[in-house]
Amino acid sequence: DEDAALLSGEFADFPTEQEQRLLPTLAIVGRPNVGKSTFVNRILGHRAAVVEDTPGVTRDRVFYEANWAGRDFMLVDTGGWEDRVAGIDHRVAEQAEAAIGLADAVVFIVDVHVGITTTDEQFVKVLRRSKKPVLLVANKVDDERAELEAASLWNLGLGEPHMVSALHGRGSGDVLDAVLEILPEEGSTPAKPDGPRRVALIGRPNVGKSSLLNKLAKENRVVVDNVPGTTRDPVDEVITLAGREWTFVDTAGIRRRVNQTGGADFFASIRTQAALDRAEVAVVLLEATETISTQDMKIIDMVLESGRALVLAFNKWDLIDEDRRKELEWEIEKDLAHVAWAPRINISAETGRHTDKLVPALDRALESWDARIPTARLNAFLGTLVAAHPHPLRGGKQPRILFATQARSRPPRFVIFASGFLEHGYRRFIERRLREDFEFTGSPIEISVRIRE
Ligand code: GDP
Ligand code: GDP
Repeated sequence: DEDAALLSGEFADFPTEQEQRLLPTLAIVGRPNVGKSTFVNRILGHRAAVVEDTPGVTRDRVFYEANWAGRDFMLVDTGGWEDRVAGIDHRVAEQAEAAIGLADAVVFIVDVHVGITTTDEQFVKVLRRSKKPVLLVANKVDDERAELEAASLWNLGLGEPHMVSALHGRGSGDVLDAVLEILPEEGSTPAKPDGPRRVALIGRPNVGKSSLLNKLAKENRVVVDNVPGTTRDPVDEVITLAGREWTFVDTAGIRRRVNQTGGADFFASIRTQAALDRAEVAVVLLEATETISTQDMKIIDMVLESGRALVLAFNKWDLIDEDRRKELEWEIEKDLAHVAWAPRINISAETGRHTDKLVPALDRALESWDARIPTARLNAFLGTLVAAHPHPLRGGKQPRILFATQARSRPPRFVIFASGFLEHGYRRFIERRLREDFEFTGSPIEISVRIRE
């Protein structure tokens, strides 16, 4: 049919070489309040990055597409870090490590009026170890007097401090030019870690996390000695399942009984967040005997926000009867429709029922999480899809999809270039079909649309 031919013809208007490549990623790191969000907003040219007041429980990494001097790149903003809550100081370095690991280059921001703190020194260690190109930014250099203070930042050993006032824009163009110099033309997909895959067992208290962990540990081999090539924390445990090693993160936290007094919820959620930060895939345990609660949903949302792969495990299956089973099916349909793509297992940590299904579920989820769809295949798929289901006409206009590319994996993130705004419903439609056609099970996928005139 002519329309279809026309549309796919337009598709053949192939992306330029730059557009076919993976976009390079720039991470913005630094202590809270040094001006990371302000700097990100400055780069993006508008106030897109939300400045959040609440501690970094839910928000850890946010990706944006940015452009400077004709070059596209991804920006990862690591806002929401909180190093003021007692006992989680070490997390700052941990979070930095994760963000830096994702990036092709790093902008490290220091507040010129505060100067070098011990946290900054921690950052420097992480940056050195990463061997990634780093640009040191002295922020809040609003006037010439502040320029003198910036000189002390040479002591960090990261070279010249680039002086900026993110708030007023002073020096920001020069810094962005310098950023482009250290940012590679092409992004790299982070190498698959050599060590065991990292699993977080999460869920509200009493769902059976420690029972499941004990069951797995008891029936399978627990590796005691250090695994080379990994930075294993003593709170983690390596268990051999189905002949392969798996790192279960924060097992010490799971086994420690949560003190159910004031603030327990807050700390439970901090701990869940910490486990997610360090994991690649999350197994969310739910109690089959109980109605799916808002707390369960919140935990699932944390997984989605963290961008980790997801497996749903309904535990205590030994306790439910046929009636409850039906009721649960209905609850799942009603409350978990948005994660219908996650593999589901119905287990009993007590009897061991179906615990052998855990590994196949983890494998499926991680395979989707790691997946990379070649640009040509992605565009062939979209071409056919759009030809059969064009975007609805609105006011005589019809945005066209020009092409798409997978900007990164873990989780898969796609950028669609279109001639105009794509409606939410249409994006969802594309996401659903992407999931079906490429069998994305168990991984969140992100789609963003960039408008090209
Ligand atoms: P983040 O926590 O690192 O993301 O920091 P924010 O971007 O939220 O900034 C923290 C505070 O510093 C805010 O009140 C900003 O308005 C302020 N700030 C950021 N950049 C500058 C700057 O260049 N000069 C001055 N004077 N204040 C700034
Ligand atoms: P956690 O707080 O998530 O670590 O939960 P626990 O593992 O401590 O389990 C809470 C309670 O549920 C304990 O009394 C367990 O014995 C019980 N439990 C856990 N899993 C199962 C299961 O599959 N079946 C049954 N019948 N009880 C279970």
